[in-house]
Amino acid sequence: MTVLVTGGAGYIGSHAVQRLLVDGVRVVCLDNLFRGHRRAMELLDGRHPGLLTFVEGDINNRALVADLLTRHKVDAVMHFAALAYVGESVDDPLRYYHNNVSGLISVLGACDDAAKAGAGVRRFVFSSSCATYGQPPEDMIPVPEHCPQNPVSPYGRSKLHDEHVLLDYAEACRRAGRAFGVAMLRYFNVCGCDRTGLLGEDHTPETHLIPVVLEAAMGKRAEVGIFGTDYPTPDGTCIRDYVHVEDLIDAHVLAMRRLRDGEVLAYNVGIGKGYSVREIIDAVKAVTGRTFSVVERPRRAGDPPAVFNNPGRIRAELGWSAKVTDLREIIGTAWAWMQANPRGYVR
Ligand code: UDP
Repeated sequence: MTVLVTGGAGYIGSHAVQRLLVDGVRVVCLDNLFRGHRRAMELLDGRHPGLLTFVEGDINNRALVADLLTRHKVDAVMHFAALAYVGESVDDPLRYYHNNVSGLISVLGACDDAAKAGAGVRRFVFSSSCATYGQPPEDMIPVPEHCPQNPVSPYGRSKLHDEHVLLDYAEACRRAGRAFGVAMLRYFNVCGCDRTGLLGEDHTPETHLIPVVLEAAMGKRAEVGIFGTDYPTPDGTCIRDYVHVEDLIDAHVLAMRRLRDGEVLAYNVGIGKGYSVREIIDAVKAVTGRTFSVVERPRRAGDPPAVFNNPGRIRAELGWSAKVTDLREIIGTAWAWMQANPRGYVR
């Protein structure tokens, strides 16, 4: 089996590449290295020689994607390549729609081109987001998959557009008698690092809460800002569901294996418990044993007050549940990598 992983040099994508290589799957990774790391590819290739082909290029280059699908006889695509910062999407929505929506359309167009050339992508696993729900109504928290999708940020809207594109594309394939199945995984807040210590989270700029707080613990930032302390939550700060990246990737592999022709599956991937921003900061202090300055800031645009998952469907249908649910253990994996790689992937 050969899998094309788009965005495979990025944080989540590289963990998927690693898992596929461990399983003995051939991987073609396409990444434009905008926020991904060549070094992650080198490390993975060194550990699993002969299985990984890395190509630097953009998902909006349809001819390139079609060539890769055809030449490598790709059976399945895991599509991670996307921009994923809520705040940035509010400031620069066109960039988000171009990258996340046009990018997906380009990859699916390439699947069409490859099918005409006799190569068939049969399985498509897509990184969607709990941001497609926006702020769910109170009686829908924890959030099930049938919760109405009303995103409150351009990022969330770009992912919801993607889901609609995939639904329509899968339906067209079904009508044309073409073997194709789609799994859309709606991630909650992904965090932590691979437990062998090879791969980590290294973003520039870093805006995600756990790495930001860890950077403060490292002394790499002067302070941590809490974006909003007047939310209608018990301690006034936002609540999110933090899922370990390796558990998230398990869900991808299970979904890819489970998919049948013509199927469109949607699953939430989160542990089923929410933590507030203040709880995350306290947990980081406990794990690292360090203190740092915390300041209260205004709310960040596009942030819903509270979201966490109802993992009922994915547990029942895929047999998935998070293996790492202890917040300190999750944070510990990220802290270990950061301490071993204080400058990130830079050698
Ligand atoms: N957050 C914060 N300070 C930071 C970064 C994030 O208070 O420096 C908050 C943010 O407002 C949100 C939560 O932490 O409520 C998680 O944000 P993150 O960017 O990690 O993920 P998102 O939920 O936006 O995907």
